[in-house]
Amino acid sequence: MASELGNELINPRPVPPPTTACCPCPVCGSRSVEVLSQRSRDHTPLSTVLCVYCGVARTDPMPDEGELARYYQSEYRLDYKGVVTPRKKHVLRAGRLARERLLYLKHYLKPGDVLLDIGAGGGEFVAVALAEGLSAEGLEPNQGYAHHASMVLGLPVRQGTWQDSTVTPESIAAVTMFHVLEHLPDPIACLRKLAEWLRPGGLLLVEVPNLTAPLATRKRRFHRAHLVHFTPETLRESLNIAGFEVLEAAAPGDGGNALALARRPEARGQFPHADETAAVIPYAAAQRVLQFEQSSPLPASLVLPHARRLARRLASMVEEQLTVRSFADGAAVLEALKRGRV
Ligand SMILES: [Zn+2]
Repeated sequence: MASELGNELINPRPVPPPTTACCPCPVCGSRSVEVLSQRSRDHTPLSTVLCVYCGVARTDPMPDEGELARYYQSEYRLDYKGVVTPRKKHVLRAGRLARERLLYLKHYLKPGDVLLDIGAGGGEFVAVALAEGLSAEGLEPNQGYAHHASMVLGLPVRQGTWQDSTVTPESIAAVTMFHVLEHLPDPIACLRKLAEWLRPGGLLLVEVPNLTAPLATRKRRFHRAHLVHFTPETLRESLNIAGFEVLEAAAPGDGGNALALARRPEARGQFPHADETAAVIPYAAAQRVLQFEQSSPLPASLVLPHARRLARRLASMVEEQLTVRSFADGAAVLEALKRGRV
């Protein structure tokens, strides 16, 4: 098989025989895996496996869908940020990120174009996009955040998920999803639905954590909220499988995240069925993840960049606290963000 030959060339070390997973890979349908971890970052049992065909890692088995929906509706934000609505510093951080992220789309969109932000959080990206003249709306599963965005800030953010949304096919110019795809048990099904909602040539901007981030603390990557793990390479392949043309796939900044800008083709062919995709995925992607896992967590060459990254984070936390001190609430921070004052 050509893919096995490719693997031999890239990684000549003996590779242990793969294990069979409980559930098929949501990207390529294979059950052949390597176990990456048996623990979550809070030290509770959690099995994370790597698909040896497509290189996408996942929780195995996947949690029940009803249990997931309840978790995101009420517990997730409390669990991960300790709040039910965003604090001023969260608004500042998310708003600044929103401005940076919008730059990827600005050249392609014109005022009045419809944009949908899935997993809109406190609505910061929607607010920034509206300020740029786009017809932006948001979808947020969490009650507290959706309520804050719509009722407190007056933004067009609705509580809900992509599954329970009805959107006119080919009606949207751009969809954005920041740190959402890794929470979905079937990311390809979601991406295919988004391709239906997008107008021909419509854009999708996605960001997820990078599984092979060189500066990440590896023990903290796996936890029960993240069901699927990508690299820039496997994010690109997943988008291709879902029928998108990838314009850009990268690990911007310090490489902690994988970001991709993709376009729904003007004319779409038949989507490949999940069973047919394994043959077209470069087998080497999985080997690159395994090589990363086998490498030293913090080689000497990364000690200094790692220390610099921690120092930058600390400095930015202090700066955020000082900046938001003079604002009465999150709404005031957001207004200042829209005007470019913070
Ligand atoms: Zn796979």
